Amino acid sequence: MISRESESASRIVALLNSESAAGGDALLDPDRFRAFCSALEIDQAECKVDETLLAMMRELRAAITSCLKEPSSKSAKALENISAKAQLILRVDDKGIPMLSSAAVDSASIAALFVLAIAASSRDGGWSRIRICDAPECNKAFFDSTRSRNRRWCSMSTCGNRAKVSEHRQRQGQRQGEQKVQKKGS
Ligand SMILES: [Zn+2]
Repeated sequence: MISRESESASRIVALLNSESAAGGDALLDPDRFRAFCSALEIDQAECKVDETLLAMMRELRAAITSCLKEPSSKSAKALENISAKAQLILRVDDKGIPMLSSAAVDSASIAALFVLAIAASSRDGGWSRIRICDAPECNKAFFDSTRSRNRRWCSMSTCGNRAKVSEHRQRQGQRQGEQKVQKKGS
């Protein structure tokens, strides 16, 4: 089991955060998607980046998000459906070493890379450490590398701090409310 972010986990986290990429959603525009792939060192020079691929990638992103946020048979089905398009198969090299691979061609092969990343991160334990920030207005994904596996926010200095301040205020408000009740009662 790993506690460090593997390449597969970081690809998934990057995909989940592609909606709030600098300059807008990286899955809405072919040029931005190519830049997104280059940043992840995914070779897409030979691939056709078209609306079909972008739609498939958005579907995959939504399916992963709902699997992480609210796992259900519906979210599981959505992820299974998109993984079927990735056509994962076992390839065996001439030394007899088996490797999970994709039989998808053209643009689907890029989507397949992310499905392979899910399979790899599930195997190495990275999947269970991918989280979505607890702050309601944030939704940013992050890799939880803490030993206790209970990190709640994408960043302590922004979302974490805000949540702590508001929790503190809430507690104070409750205490003041209790004091008022006590005074009335005495
Ligand atoms: Zn956040």
